[in-house]
Amino acid sequence: MKYSLQTRCIHLEQEQKEADTEHYGAVSFPIYQTATYAHPKLGESTGYDYSRLQNPTRSHLEQVVAKLEYGIDAFALSSGMAAITLLMELFQPGDHFLVEGDLYGGSIRLFNHVNQKNQYQFSYLNFEQDDIEANIQENTKAIYIETPTNPMMHVSDIEKIAKIAKKHNLLFIVDNTFLSPYFQNPLLLGADVVIHSGTKFLGGHNDTLAGFIVTNREDVQERLRFLIKTTGAGLAPFDSWLLLRGIKTLALRMEQAQKNAQEIAEWLAQQKEVKRVIYPGLKSFPQHALMKKQARGFGTMLTFEMGNAEQARVILDHISLIKFAESLGGVETLMTYPTTQTHADVPEEVRLKNGITSATLRLSTGIEDVKDLLADLEQAFSNFK
Ligand SMILES: *Cc1c(COP(=O)(O)O)cnc(C)c1O
Repeated sequence: MKYSLQTRCIHLEQEQKEADTEHYGAVSFPIYQTATYAHPKLGESTGYDYSRLQNPTRSHLEQVVAKLEYGIDAFALSSGMAAITLLMELFQPGDHFLVEGDLYGGSIRLFNHVNQKNQYQFSYLNFEQDDIEANIQENTKAIYIETPTNPMMHVSDIEKIAKIAKKHNLLFIVDNTFLSPYFQNPLLLGADVVIHSGTKFLGGHNDTLAGFIVTNREDVQERLRFLIKTTGAGLAPFDSWLLLRGIKTLALRMEQAQKNAQEIAEWLAQQKEVKRVIYPGLKSFPQHALMKKQARGFGTMLTFEMGNAEQARVILDHISLIKFAESLGGVETLMTYPTTQTHADVPEEVRLKNGITSATLRLSTGIEDVKDLLADLEQAFSNFK
């Protein structure tokens, strides 16, 4: 590709070509707020028939995201969960899945409370430690991971798992939400499908829900086109435009938020009330080298454990600039309490086994001046003195 990643977030070749000709030179891609399209003649189509099937604004966004992830196609859905729900329609009753045990809580809720009733079977693994091949059954059809995971930052070796998936003819799916295409491209490392919650880094402003499926396999692409047309959870034109706008600043936001995460992680590691800090950018992080091998950055998410639940509560009660809110990946710094928020539906024994205790806090750094973020944390921690 001709341009660097920073430039491509703003100017994809496609975008320039279309803007020059079809859209009166509009620099911002137009919002096609239409449900249907008139046909020139019987048997002819403009290429667009009905917006459940295709809409120019959504199609443009899909091409942008496909290019950023090096896929042949992308699908824009109304949320990350809508994307994962659609993806699971690729499978049949009786199919078995190997799934990362420390997944986003909403994905586990979907698998256990919706997909299981359709006779899908799930084995939850720790992909850092468990023997993957030993868990493959005759009916295993796919491997589904996140790396780093949410919130414990397990890092799995994408290339290694891709080799196993190829050998056993399994579809290899990576939810790449946590690093965004700016820092990691699983399809280039051998994955077949990438999932994004576009609500997070791609949108970037905590104002729009969106989700993506990206693939480089033609059979998957063809089936997903049929499924999106049939089930109807495609992203609306205006929301597609908001995502296009968000992606233009992806590079700047990721760089600034990552810098903030690194400084805050180092500061937290020095506080005596903090038992441990889990951030891939810390030299002490066990999978630091693997992160460096397969990603271009360490991300903006960090998890830390206070001495006990009461100390975690004190922090949540006293942060002020930093908001106590679910979600991540936006310009605002947010703190999450996984036990009652993102992971409330994960069975307690699974949660504790994964190391998520009532003293665990998760931080998604935004792009504020880090001095202000550190001052907010300092005043929250001053309640212990
Ligand atoms: C938020 C999130 C999702 C779900 O996306 P929504 O847009 O909230 O539906 C899926 N995976 C990960 C890793 C997430 O952080």
